[in-house]
Amino acid sequence: MEKRIYNFSAGPAVLPEPVLLEAQEHLMSLPGAGMSILEISHRSKRYDEIHADAKKRFKELLGINDNYEVLFLQGGASLQFSMVPLNLMPPVNKADYIVTGTWSKKAVKEAKRVGTPNIAASTESENFARIPKQEELKLDPEAAYVHMTSNNTIYGTEWFTEPEVGNVPLICDASSDILSRKLDVNKYAMIYAGAQKNMGPAGVTVVVIRKDLLERSSDSLHTMLNYKIHAENDSMYNTCNTFGIYIIGLVCKWLQSIGGLDAMYKMNVEKAKLLYDCFDTSDGYFRGHAQADSRSLMNVTIRLPNEELEKKLIGEATKAGFDGLKGHRSVGGLRASIYNAFPKQGVVDLVAFLNDFRKNNG
Ligand SMILES: *Cc1c(COP(=O)(O)O)cnc(C)c1O
Repeated sequence: MEKRIYNFSAGPAVLPEPVLLEAQEHLMSLPGAGMSILEISHRSKRYDEIHADAKKRFKELLGINDNYEVLFLQGGASLQFSMVPLNLMPPVNKADYIVTGTWSKKAVKEAKRVGTPNIAASTESENFARIPKQEELKLDPEAAYVHMTSNNTIYGTEWFTEPEVGNVPLICDASSDILSRKLDVNKYAMIYAGAQKNMGPAGVTVVVIRKDLLERSSDSLHTMLNYKIHAENDSMYNTCNTFGIYIIGLVCKWLQSIGGLDAMYKMNVEKAKLLYDCFDTSDGYFRGHAQADSRSLMNVTIRLPNEELEKKLIGEATKAGFDGLKGHRSVGGLRASIYNAFPKQGVVDLVAFLNDFRKNNG
């Protein structure tokens, strides 16, 4: 087998090796099925068990109680930018959006097709280098909901406490930090996340929605866009992404085996600290795009004194087996995505590589 390299991609992203190995071992014939997970009917008893197991483990990890439905949908987090307003904005047809990056802006764009999104706060004038403070939020108590993005994959910023939104339902796009730490799910009316960053392959979106919100979904909505229909059918109104849901189940099992989200969070803090400490002791040679109080544990942006050095660093890093480090064009520089499954040794090796580079190019 060809050697695995360090994969710093923002998504689809690195998966835990035990998950890949188990999937590989069972790919020809899934125990109890005699066929592959890729071939099994989503209406079969054996698949039912896999579906229920993934859901159960996901709920256990986040401590989700029975007031919430967990759905496995398709269309990416991007489809949620439309489904959220279509299902949940009426009848008031206005909602608050906290804009902290490219993904939040895309959510606003779709909300405008349904009603009137109010920009409750935006840090765009600072190129999204930080998370807004509570006192900056201009919230409307009559809004249908407040929408936020917990981790800004491109700008490398992250929320560490929820905004206070009173009685208005809080909806969070957690695509790039779901399962990276414990959450008080009860503070949210809905959380959604594409799987391909921190929990599985591309093609599944997990939606956690409080059951009372399902009553807002109008019968006039297209069936496949209706949360209530998906909930009534346990995410199997149509053919669900059987393989993706299976992998999510294995990822959740892996997280449980290493001690759950508290243990995972501790490791995530350790990994991110290695990189941020490297910045902070580099006499300004390395810096992140994010301001210190908003630094993401998942996506670490890396800027150097000039773009030439950045190009040189990316080239040398790629040759040395560090893949996917090129930053997003709206920030420039480099970005190390160090999701749950990214090994600590990879961060240790990257820091040593960065320090060497600085010595040779300082
Ligand atoms: C990647 C990402 C998205 C888009 O996800 P798709 O599954 O490609 O639609 C949305 N929000 C955030 C925060 C992301 O990181």
